[in-house]
Amino acid sequence: MLTRKNLSRSTTADPAVPVIRRIQQLLASAGTPGTFATRHTAGIDDIYFDVVDVGAVQLPLSHRTAQKLCDVARPARYGLREKTLLDPRVRDTWEIGKRQIKLDTRHWQRTLDPKLDLIARDLGLPDGVKLRAELHNLLVYGPGQFFAPHQDSEKADGMIGSLVVLLPSDSKGGALAIEHHDEKVSYRGSPNQLVLVAFYADCRHEVRPVASGYRAALTFNLFLDVAERRSERTTAPPVDALFDLVRDYFATQRPARGPLWPSSPAPERLVYLLDHEYTQKGLAWRALKNGDAVRASLLREVADRLDCEVVLALADVHETWSCEDDWGDDGRRRRGWYARYDGDEEDGDDGDEDYTLIELCNSDVELRHWVATSNKRVQAISDEVMDDEICFTKPSVDLEPFKSEHEGYTGNAGNTVDRWYHRAAVLLWPRVRTFAIRAKASPAWGIQEIAKALARRKAEVAKQRIGEMLPFWNSVAPREKAPGLADQILHVAHAIDDAQLATALVEPLRIEQMMPKMATRWGNLLARYGLTWCAQVFERWTSRDERHYDHEPRTTWLVLLPALSALLCTHGGEDAVELVRRIVRGQWMWLNARLDAWIKPPLSSHSLKTIEGASRPLVGLLAAAALADDRDLQSTIVARLAPERGYPIVGALAVLRAGAPHGAAMLGLGPLHDDCARTLTELVATPPRAPGDWSIMTQLGCKCELCARLGRFLRAANEQQFEWPLAKDRRAHVHGMITSYELPVTHVTRRTGSPYTLVLTKTQALFTRDATERATWMRDLAWLRENAKTPRRVRAQRK
Ligand SMILES: [Zn+2]
Repeated sequence: MLTRKNLSRSTTADPAVPVIRRIQQLLASAGTPGTFATRHTAGIDDIYFDVVDVGAVQLPLSHRTAQKLCDVARPARYGLREKTLLDPRVRDTWEIGKRQIKLDTRHWQRTLDPKLDLIARDLGLPDGVKLRAELHNLLVYGPGQFFAPHQDSEKADGMIGSLVVLLPSDSKGGALAIEHHDEKVSYRGSPNQLVLVAFYADCRHEVRPVASGYRAALTFNLFLDVAERRSERTTAPPVDALFDLVRDYFATQRPARGPLWPSSPAPERLVYLLDHEYTQKGLAWRALKNGDAVRASLLREVADRLDCEVVLALADVHETWSCEDDWGDDGRRRRGWYARYDGDEEDGDDGDEDYTLIELCNSDVELRHWVATSNKRVQAISDEVMDDEICFTKPSVDLEPFKSEHEGYTGNAGNTVDRWYHRAAVLLWPRVRTFAIRAKASPAWGIQEIAKALARRKAEVAKQRIGEMLPFWNSVAPREKAPGLADQILHVAHAIDDAQLATALVEPLRIEQMMPKMATRWGNLLARYGLTWCAQVFERWTSRDERHYDHEPRTTWLVLLPALSALLCTHGGEDAVELVRRIVRGQWMWLNARLDAWIKPPLSSHSLKTIEGASRPLVGLLAAAALADDRDLQSTIVARLAPERGYPIVGALAVLRAGAPHGAAMLGLGPLHDDCARTLTELVATPPRAPGDWSIMTQLGCKCELCARLGRFLRAANEQQFEWPLAKDRRAHVHGMITSYELPVTHVTRRTGSPYTLVLTKTQALFTRDATERATWMRDLAWLRENAKTPRRVRAQRK
């Protein structure tokens, strides 16, 4: 168990080295008990086999037999990811499938079984693990034939490697070269004995071109016998040291990362990347390879002693490196990977890249497919792994990437390469933090768990869980996209029966998440925590300072406010009506501040659209105010919308139209109706623009001398054109004003003289716009008269 007392005891080593680096060093020194490839020999009479249509294959292999074998064989294919390809530039060899081979298994097994035990030991497999070899095929390489470097796919469950049995022959060349990370070994066949080469499946290997004669090999897939239970012997000293380090690691706050990040909490997880690759099928505790097995079992023992959870996981590593292109001596790029095998025997380890990596810019690791110590799959917690939570013995850059994308130098992006690696990892974390880690990755899951605890009447558990979530709650809850989260939070906030915890839980929610169907939740919250608590929650949500907040989610929500209010009023009695009243007043203050900003001149056609768009939220507020019986607020809102006091008439009319279905009287829109009718009547009565009247009466907001001059030109009824010698920046200001006020005036710069002359011309649009506007007034006035009957009658009744 991880207790405070335990945590405060510190270890010896240099405190300047981060604990995780010391863990890494210790794991690296835990060493590799075995190797990635090994070689054994057997006698020429230890194997007997027939090939269909050839008969018994006599060893050493004669040229004649080899040619017969080639006659019944087919060209071998090779696997590239999901595909199987035939490409003699990559693989040029003859293959005979296992169905054509009759192997005297009983005889062979007598030799093979003891060899497999030696191979298991060489490959560093744990004691008690048995290897099993299954025949795969017979390969024959004639002169010049080869197989370019490749990595076998793990074809079946539990397959961990390959066994190649090189048959004795007089061939030259055709060495089998095997590499793992930066180590490389090479094996050749023998003229008079069997050579058995075994290697892990994730090793890159190749068959060099055969110089002369025929090289033949039986290949076997190696499996771990899963029935065997591995013994978990680990020596005490490294476990003790690792125990101390891992305990310190989970107890040490991370150091400051500059003034904005003074110091952050202790790390939550420890991720150790394994050396070997594993497929999803092959990832199991007892199937770990070589040094991985040793280190994983050390970590597992430490996890047990520290009461940590420990899992295996596949790790998808993505790195972005800055790089420089490599150019050959002749100024051309180096050739690619396959090209090297057109007879070039020299191996250039870095020749398969035509760039040099400079610096790691970014790396991220995703852990998926989690396997528990029981070897059962457990649900992965999909959360970002922090860089300082990861250690490894081999850096990813030393491995062969699964995929690589070289951007090349593109002007602004720089020269970068993206590399993806398939790795595996051991992951551990203190069991006491399991809930917090999972809830951080999925707030919806966290809330669900708390709700379950409450349903089982485990209030103390629920409270403790909330306490574990609160440190990160405000940062993770807003990111959660799961539907129903807000509703579940309100439910838990009520059921927890603790005003303080409830306040903290609802804090990260947004007012826009309060849907009408949640009215019963609010009825419950009102009953439990009272009116003041509920009103303050809404107030905080409304006044929260959000810099990048767009008005639209809120205005959309205001349209729904009457539905929420109506349900709330029927569920919550007097307090609910008062709560609605406060919510509506708060929202009016919010919207009113926006109206102020929107009607500021210049009133562009865009701002007029926004103002018209505010009509439905405004009607929402008026309707909700009606439900709270807040006639004062209705009057305030309606007064604000009066065209006689400067509100754009299109905005006022849009509110009347949007409110019509509710009934103007219910919304208190009568006075606005009258105001609009009066305003429009006056406008319609003004004489239309006389032909030849070029005056534009728009008031310019700017008071500068240029705008004063521009204003005089605009107002002048007899001036249609104005030639104005102006320097560049002054012309720009005049352009700007004409554009932002959408004036029917063209502006052309005549590029002669100094300064150039700005030619302003009023356009015919002045007349067409006036005519259109006048037609709209008439139509609106007619609509008002048509819809005047209802409010008048209702007002008469109210008197
Ligand atoms: Zn100006």
